[in-house]
Amino acid sequence: LNSERSLFPASLSQAESLPVYGHLIGNRWVASAQPPLAVVAPATGERFAWLARGGASEIDAAVAAARAALDGEWGRMTAADRGRLMLRFAQKVLDNVERLAWIEAHDTGKPISQARNDMRAVARYFEFYGGAADKVHGEVIPYLNGYNVTVVREPLGVTAHVTPWNYPAQMFGRSLAPALAMGNATVLKPAEEACLVCLEFGALAVEAGFPAGALNIVTGLGEEAGAPLSKHPDINFLSFTGSPEVGRLIQEAAAIHHVPVVLELGGKSPQVVFADADLEAAAATVCKAITQNTGQTCSAGSRVLVERPIFDKFMGMVASNFEKLRIGRPEDDTDLGPVINQTQQKRVLDFIEGAQRDGVPLIAQAKPDASLSGGYFVPPTVFGPVAADNAIVCQEIFGPVLAAQEFDSEDEAVALANGTEFGLVAGVWTRDGARQQRLAKRIVSGQVFVNCYGAGGGVELPFGGTKRSGHGREKGLMALEEVSTTKTVVNYHG
Ligand code: NAD
Repeated sequence: LNSERSLFPASLSQAESLPVYGHLIGNRWVASAQPPLAVVAPATGERFAWLARGGASEIDAAVAAARAALDGEWGRMTAADRGRLMLRFAQKVLDNVERLAWIEAHDTGKPISQARNDMRAVARYFEFYGGAADKVHGEVIPYLNGYNVTVVREPLGVTAHVTPWNYPAQMFGRSLAPALAMGNATVLKPAEEACLVCLEFGALAVEAGFPAGALNIVTGLGEEAGAPLSKHPDINFLSFTGSPEVGRLIQEAAAIHHVPVVLELGGKSPQVVFADADLEAAAATVCKAITQNTGQTCSAGSRVLVERPIFDKFMGMVASNFEKLRIGRPEDDTDLGPVINQTQQKRVLDFIEGAQRDGVPLIAQAKPDASLSGGYFVPPTVFGPVAADNAIVCQEIFGPVLAAQEFDSEDEAVALANGTEFGLVAGVWTRDGARQQRLAKRIVSGQVFVNCYGAGGGVELPFGGTKRSGHGREKGLMALEEVSTTKTVVNYHG
């Protein structure tokens, strides 16, 4: 942890000598009057840092700093210079991968290799959008004689970003990079459960030369800092990634001032496996898709739909993948770490107990080692066959629990795949090309992967939900459209 951005309010015991992270407002580190929030390592349950607890006044200051940036150096910067700055930031992230990855791994509990990948992904977001900054061209529209009509894309202004704890680093890149590339000034309220790496990125952005106010970060609780940001009269755009419940509050807040909003919410993503598929590859991917990040991934493949004649054989193959899973602390660099906190641990265990109470057959379970007590570990578990109305089929658990279902026909597979209120990601496993096309068309989902799943989650690929999984798109060039507005200039020259 870098003590340069650590503030030590007198109220804290120096004996603990834990770093205290402040807010980043107008390129200055700012403390809050409120006592800070404890930051706990999910792998051990131990406190290892403090986080400033911001509220409406810090949000006001951050939005004002962002507004001032638009009228100042940031607003005057050419698109090429913005892009150059973003590339410089990306390089700083790459130069610091090891240090940043350890902070992220402690904060979230994820295996260190995964945290390193997340840092590289952040650099990639800034490279991709930094490279795109000066390639957003306008149009000339043929019109009436004597008129010259141009259509240009402009930044929206001050953009507000509220992000979750499961991938703090990646969410920083995904949400902020397109907004900055378009020349917006940003205010981020990351999740209180894990966000230290975002503050480290803030420090690197200052080092890279981002002008004051282009990138502001206010930490704190959702109701205290997130709510005033989402309702602020001087923001021009809201990006939210998180739960459907808070997503509804964000949409309502956006309506107060008619602010455009992108919502990236939850999922209950199915993988459909037909008898003619490469079953080895499908079984390994089905296991990974629900256990990566300990199942705390919006796009986790939490349901698997299997053609009835191969159900037992295929689920046996999935089970043997589950039985090999290694569970441990970040430094053990295993397949899975703990979940984020005690609340989430209880939630996952309650779903497992609920399914057992309902008499759902248990297919496989990997038990965390007893030496891991103290951390918030849960056993990755596979159940099946599970009835379509069971809680583990319908509700997002956000943990490593897989629900398996059987189907007899393509129609039934589609009906089951579309049978929840979510529509974020789906996987289809079959060698039949025509069936691949039919399923890709009929499954209602923001993304459909055929004979793969996630596919590296590349920044190039537009990503977002349908139904209760949200609306709007992030990633890809499409994200630039969400964070900009179109202006039509009609020039009469006679
Ligand atoms: P959450 O909704 O509890 O919190 C997300 C953010 O909203 C946090 O920063 C939180 O402080 C803030 N917040 C909470 N209450 C608020 C309020 N009243 N007003 C404004 N902000 C408020 O979600 P979480 O528990 O952090 O994350 C888990 C959820 O996120 C899951 O449902 C998951 O599927 C979803 N998620 C979705 C995606 C996606 O891309 N679709 C990605 C990651 C996570």
